[in-house]
Amino acid sequence: AIGFINGEWIPVDQAVLPIDERGHNFGDGVYEVIRVYQGTPFKMREHLVRLEKSAEAILLTMNYSIDELEALIAEGLAKTGLQEASVYLQVTRGIAKRVHLFPDVPASTTMTIRPATDLPATVREKGVQVTLVEDERWKNCYIKSLNLLPNVVAKQKATDAGFYEAVFVRDGIVLEGSSCNVFLIKDGVLITPPANRFILHGITRATLLEIAKEIGVPMEEKEFGPDELLAADEAFLSSTSMEVLPIVEIDGKQIGAGIPGTISRDLHKNYRAKYQGIGV
Ligand code: PLP
Repeated sequence: AIGFINGEWIPVDQAVLPIDERGHNFGDGVYEVIRVYQGTPFKMREHLVRLEKSAEAILLTMNYSIDELEALIAEGLAKTGLQEASVYLQVTRGIAKRVHLFPDVPASTTMTIRPATDLPATVREKGVQVTLVEDERWKNCYIKSLNLLPNVVAKQKATDAGFYEAVFVRDGIVLEGSSCNVFLIKDGVLITPPANRFILHGITRATLLEIAKEIGVPMEEKEFGPDELLAADEAFLSSTSMEVLPIVEIDGKQIGAGIPGTISRDLHKNYRAKYQGIGV
C-alpha cells in the first residue's frame, strides 16, 4: 500500500494532515474509489470525470487535471506493484484557518492505493439481506461528497441489526444503498432508479446498463417504491467494490426464490468479462 499527499508519495500510516485541513474540519471535499484489475484501473476516466463534476458542483477547483491524476495513479501503482488494488482519491478545499468562507489556497489532493479486499465468495453465492431506511441525506446525492454521515450511520445500524446494507427510501421512492446503487428485475426487465440528484450516478450502474443493452436485457430507468422492489423476481446492489451483489431478502421478506437470480448472475458474468484481460 502507498499514500500520496500533494505531490509526495508516503507510507499510508504516516501522519501528514495539518489540523486545519478542510476535509477534516468540514468534510469540504469530494472523492472517488477506483478498482484496479490485473494492474489496470477499470473505468478510470469515467471516475475522474465524475470527480471533476463533483468538484465543480461544490465550486472547488482541483489542483490536478484528469490527465495528471491518471499519470499519478499509474505512478503509484508501479510503486506498489499491486495487480489487484483499490485507489481512493480525495480532493478537498485545502488547508486554511477554520472559517466557513472559501480560503484562497490550492485544493488538497490525497490518495491511497491498497490491495483490493474482495467480498467473501460465500456472500456472493448466497446473496445478502438488506433493510429499507428513510433517506436523511441532502438533495445533492449525485455529488460524491466527503459528507457521509447519514451513510455511515445507516450502514452501522443496518449491520448491527443483522443486515448487509441499508437502502435509502425518500418520499416512498427507493433510491440507492449507503454505498451502492440498486436494481430490480421484474418479468425479465432490468429496472433501476433514474440518475437524478437523489442518487450517485454509479459508474458500475452505467456499465451494467450498457451491458444490458449489449446482451439484450430490456432495461428501464424509472422510480419504484418498496412494494415494487419486494415483488421483484430478482434484485441486486452495484458498486465498484461490490460489482453485482444479489439481494435475497429485504427486511425479512424473501426476494424471488431467495437465491441470486439468473439475470443478475448473467449481468455479473458479463461485467467480469469487461475487466478480465484489460491488463493484458
Ligand atoms: N451510491 C453511493 C451512495 C455510493 O457511495 C457508491 C459508491 O461508493 C455508489 C452508489 C456506486 O458507485 P460506483 O458504481 O461508481 O462505485
